[in-house]
Amino acid sequence: MTTQRRKRGELRRNPLNGDWTVLAPERGERPHGTTGPCPFCPGPGEDTPPETWRLRDPDRDEWRVRSVPNRYPLSERHEVLIESPRHDWDFRTATDDEAEAVLLAWQWRHLALREHSAQVVVFRNHGAQAGRSRAHPHSQLVGLPVLAPSARRGLELSRAYYRAGGRRYLDDQLDIALEAETRLVLISPHCVAFTPFAPVVAFETRFVPRLARADFAAATRTEIADVARSLRRVLQALDDELGDPAYNLVVETAPTGWERAAFLSWSIRILPRLEITAGLELATGIPVVTTTPEHAASVLRDRIGARLRA
Ligand SMILES: [Zn+2]
Repeated sequence: MTTQRRKRGELRRNPLNGDWTVLAPERGERPHGTTGPCPFCPGPGEDTPPETWRLRDPDRDEWRVRSVPNRYPLSERHEVLIESPRHDWDFRTATDDEAEAVLLAWQWRHLALREHSAQVVVFRNHGAQAGRSRAHPHSQLVGLPVLAPSARRGLELSRAYYRAGGRRYLDDQLDIALEAETRLVLISPHCVAFTPFAPVVAFETRFVPRLARADFAAATRTEIADVARSLRRVLQALDDELGDPAYNLVVETAPTGWERAAFLSWSIRILPRLEITAGLELATGIPVVTTTPEHAASVLRDRIGARLRA
């Protein structure tokens, strides 16, 4: 039995297929209620481990985004990125500058954590159904000491795809979405959002940069600003259509050491949590999705269009 002990989370490996599981019993003790002052809000009730990084607000004498170690870590390098001093802040109601600051923070902290990790995962859980335990807006970065099987598989498949046709998989997916138009959600100067041909959940949306790069942290400021604005518009559309649904947002980017791989492209996925995973999915790993990506894209396009006209 392979085990790898860490300070908090413990990695255990399934002896048959080699898949990893993180055991983090301390996380079961995480507070889920809203009793007491919010530890992430600035003021006398603020209570976090010592800050690892902050982005200052140029206009005011305070921070705009800050990162702290997670009190209930999944690995030795697990940070919480507090996205705003405001408790009621959210992407969909944010200004473009505020949304951009969060994406820039993801880039900075990704760079900082990757030095000692095989892979850094950036994600945001929105809503209790998506696993969020604190109401204050935040995202998380986890540096893993090993490459997740899905990341390893992604590397192998992307490389094989590139070798076979000389093109990145996501570049082709982008072209197909642009050509057919039925799964397009939004076109922007530096990125395109579309629903995938075979989504894993209803309303799954993927943001792909027009200029493919393996490494999310290498995207330029202009690109990041455009992606942030696009993300905000799609999250607004999801809210308009579904009433503030719970979702997981994941930044997919190159594992450490693969930042310059020609066959990889970073992207951002939004995975709404509208349905509960049931027996068939758990038994087979095959998702059952009740909304077609064509329908989801058309509905989101309409919602974005309606806001632009308003
Ligand atoms: Zn708060």
